[in-house]
Amino acid sequence: MIPVTKPFLPKVKEYDDYVNSIWERQWLTNNGPLVNELELKLKEYLDVKHLLYVSNGTMALQLAIKALGLTGEIITTPFSFVATTSSIVWQGCTPVFTDIDPETFNIDPRKIEEAITPETSAIVATHVYGNPCDIDAIQAIASRHNIKVIYDAAHCFGTKYKNRSVYEYGDISTTSFHATKLFHSIEGGAVFTQCPELLKKMAFMRNFGHNGPNEFTELGINAKNSEFHAAMGLCNLKHVDEILEKRKKLSLYYWQKLQYLQAKYPRLNNDLDYNYAYFPVLFDTKELMQQCLTALEGEKIYCRRYFYPSLASLPYVNYTFLPVCESVVERILCLPLYHTLTFSDLDLITRIILRVQNYLPDQTIKEEVPIAIAQEIVRMLYTVNGKV
Ligand SMILES: *Cc1c(COP(=O)(O)O)cnc(C)c1O
Repeated sequence: MIPVTKPFLPKVKEYDDYVNSIWERQWLTNNGPLVNELELKLKEYLDVKHLLYVSNGTMALQLAIKALGLTGEIITTPFSFVATTSSIVWQGCTPVFTDIDPETFNIDPRKIEEAITPETSAIVATHVYGNPCDIDAIQAIASRHNIKVIYDAAHCFGTKYKNRSVYEYGDISTTSFHATKLFHSIEGGAVFTQCPELLKKMAFMRNFGHNGPNEFTELGINAKNSEFHAAMGLCNLKHVDEILEKRKKLSLYYWQKLQYLQAKYPRLNNDLDYNYAYFPVLFDTKELMQQCLTALEGEKIYCRRYFYPSLASLPYVNYTFLPVCESVVERILCLPLYHTLTFSDLDLITRIILRVQNYLPDQTIKEEVPIAIAQEIVRMLYTVNGKV
C-alpha cells in the first residue's frame, strides 16, 4: 500500500529522551521549557524574528483573524484546505471568493481589487503547495485599500521567497505542524508577525488572555500546545533537512518520468526556494485524472484530490462560480510524496499513470516541465539513479 503521505517518525529513543525529561520536571503544558526550546530552534532554523507555537494550524488562523480585529468581508481563495474558509466564518466574517491564477493555482491578484467593497477588512490567501502567492501585487492592493493580509502558509515549512522565510510576509502568516505536513509536531501550528504589538496580543490570546495569575488583558482562548508535542517537533527538526532533500529528489524524478504526460504542473514563483511539499498534477482532462486515480487505487496506491471541491461551494457560504477554480478542482491530483518513498515506487506509480494515458484516445505528446526545473532534472539524472 502506498498512501499519499506518511508522517515522519524519529527513532523512538530520540523521543524517549525528551519524555524522560518531561517526567523529571513534571511540567506537561503551559509554556513549558520544551515549548520554549522549540520556539527558539524554529526561529533559528527558519531565520524569522518572531513566532508563537500554538495548538494547530486552524487555531493559528483564528488567532490571526481575531488579533487583527477583522470584521465584515474577507477576500479569500476558493482553492485551499477547508480550514482557510471555515476559520473566517467561525470568526463571524463573510468569505468573498475570487478566482485563482490558472498557472499557479494561487489567488489571482487581478481578481481581488474588483471584489473590494467598503465592508472588506482583509485578504486571506494560501500559498498553495508551498508556492508563494504574488505577494508584491497582493500587498500593493492591501496598502491601497488599507486592508490587512493574512497568509495561510500551512504548506510552507522551509519555503523562502526573495531569500527570506515566506512566513515573514503579510500582517500575519500562519502555519500548521500537523502530522501530515512535512515538518510536524503531531498536532501544532504557529503564527508569525513582524509587529511586536500583534505578537504580544496573540501571546495573551493563546493563554486565555491571562496577564499574571489573576489578571486578564485580552479576550483569550486556549491555543497552547503541550511539552509532548514540542518534544516531537524538536526530534523532527533535527531531520528536516534530510526530509526536504529527499522530497526534492523524488519530485525531480517524478517530473522526469512524467514529462510526456498530458498534464501541467503549477508554475513556481521565480523568487523561490521551494520545499517540494506536494506533487500536484493538473491533468489535461477530468477523464484522464479519474482513470489514473482509479487505476492507482486498483494497485493500492492512494492519491488525494488536493483540493476538491471548490471552497466556494461549501454549504455555509454563498456559492460563487469561479471558472478557473472549478476547472482545476476537477483535474488536480496530488501524487504520493513522503520521505520513505523509493524511486522504484515512483517507477511503479508513473508506469500506471502513463499506461492509462496510452489506452485513452487522442493523445498528444507534450513536454511541460517547469522551465526553472528542467536544468536541475538533467543534473539530478546523473546523481539520482541508485541513490535513495
Ligand atoms: C493543514 C492545513 C490547515 C490546518 O492545519 P491544522 O494544523 O490541521 O489545523 C490549514 N490550511 C491549510 C492550507 C492546510 O493545508
